[in-house]
Amino acid sequence: MQIVIFGAPGAGKGTQAKILSKRFNIPHISTGDILRDSVARATALGNAAKEIIESGELVSDDLMGGLVKETLQNIDFDKGFILDGFPRTVNQAEILLNIFESLKINNPYFIVLEADHEVIVSRLSSRRECSNCRAIVNLHDIEDPKVYPNCEAIDTLMKRKDDDEVVIMNRLKIYDDSTLPILNFYRDKFNIISVDGTDSIDEITNNILFAIEGAA
Ligand code: AMP
Repeated sequence: MQIVIFGAPGAGKGTQAKILSKRFNIPHISTGDILRDSVARATALGNAAKEIIESGELVSDDLMGGLVKETLQNIDFDKGFILDGFPRTVNQAEILLNIFESLKINNPYFIVLEADHEVIVSRLSSRRECSNCRAIVNLHDIEDPKVYPNCEAIDTLMKRKDDDEVVIMNRLKIYDDSTLPILNFYRDKFNIISVDGTDSIDEITNNILFAIEGAA
């Protein structure tokens, strides 16, 4: 099961990717997570990317293309993977086609999570990341923001710097201007599966699974 999951920031790509990763026992490759981990470890990549990520801008296509190719080469990609956060520009979309061609990845599922900006801004404003277990949570979904039930840590829920409202608006503009045109570019190259990203988490997962079965 080779999957590319696509959608605006906050459309729920990470949440669904984690669920599908467990369900199909395939690695979840999130370019955002890789970058944030590199920032936390202060690697050369992390130091180069830190300010870019915090302002909501995009890291360079060449750097990201190299990172994705290397990551795919280091896993058993024939068995499957779920790629989340790449491509984000038409240039990256071309790079990904070349990577898939060179690795003979012929028929990946390309899933698009659709959600309008209003829903996204509201979701991202109340999104928090646990600094202990790195899980993502929405404040609306837990009783006490001081105690995170997933890992029982206290006072660990942090707002990501790029979930600040001004940065969110910048990220959405970049999505509209640079990322959305990928759909047109891929229209005749992939079987694009669109799913409503505003439903509940379980409904979205079921709709993705249903669509995948239908496309198989
Ligand atoms: P995400 O967690 O996918 O929203 O990514 C967080 C941030 O990492 C983005 O706002 C970008 O700054 C950077 N990033 C992640 N993936 C890419 C990519 N494919 N191309 C460029 N920048 C990226």
